[in-house]
Amino acid sequence: MELVHKSDRIRQIILAQKEAGKTVGFIPTMGALHEGHLSLVKRAKAVTDYVVVSIYVNPTQFNQQEDLDKYPRTIERDMVLLEGVCDVVFNPLDNKEVYGDEIVLKSYNFEGLDEPLEGAFRPGHFKGMANVVSRFFEIVKPDKAFFGLKDYQQYVLVKKMVAIERYDIEVVGCPIVREENGLAMSSRNERLSHKAKHTASVIFYALQYCEKYYLHVSLEQLKQNAIDMLKGMVQVEYLEFRDAETLEVINDNTKQSEVFLSFAGYLEGIRLIDNIRFSSKV
Ligand code: AMP
Repeated sequence: MELVHKSDRIRQIILAQKEAGKTVGFIPTMGALHEGHLSLVKRAKAVTDYVVVSIYVNPTQFNQQEDLDKYPRTIERDMVLLEGVCDVVFNPLDNKEVYGDEIVLKSYNFEGLDEPLEGAFRPGHFKGMANVVSRFFEIVKPDKAFFGLKDYQQYVLVKKMVAIERYDIEVVGCPIVREENGLAMSSRNERLSHKAKHTASVIFYALQYCEKYYLHVSLEQLKQNAIDMLKGMVQVEYLEFRDAETLEVINDNTKQSEVFLSFAGYLEGIRLIDNIRFSSKV
């Protein structure tokens, strides 16, 4: 498994693979890999011939400098985890390899899908994310790209960006991988204490509670009960019932919906996100 730092080199490698008739799978990551990332890589390996993983902490998608500075960087350990699982790792060391000499970001018209939830609480995050994914798609030119449904709004926006750019790339959404106690795996969990990791199980518990009682309690009451469950343990930023396709707020649990229940909150000052999706069978 080769470790590549230069975009020209990765272009060359991929061209050779394509000329040999191979399909290319791509997983963009920011490193500090865990089983969640590896599940995407394994899925890619199962359905494409040649698998590229990028490891790059993209500065343009961080809306807080401190978060960027504190983001874990564990490339050596990441390489060990990826050994034998993917074919090449693209790890640009210089922003120029991704953005060229100057970082100029495109503005996409996401028709409002980028406005609520993460878009509201992390201004500029999705603009940076969509731009870096687009840059990587131009370099790697994958047939399929794999994204975790943990970042569900990101997955929706990447699909939209692909449609806007008319890329011939299939965007594959992969299920959330969780710790045994239900905590969604995340590179940020590394910054949590042992106790907080244990406490954090209450997040998935509260989401599942909302799914279970979705039809039986008003949405307002359901949300309040869930927030009460989290009280004193997790500082909730948002907990919202949204339509999984339009991302619009669901106000009425008596209507048939594909529900995307989205959560963000803080534990020990670390921002965590999670979600569940379910069909409300009325
Ligand atoms: P990140 O390194 O956080 O940018 O994540 C890279 C990719 O891994 C994104 O598509 C994430 O949605 C995905 N991912 C992160 N955590 C998980 C998880 N627990 N389960 C599934 N996918 C995940």
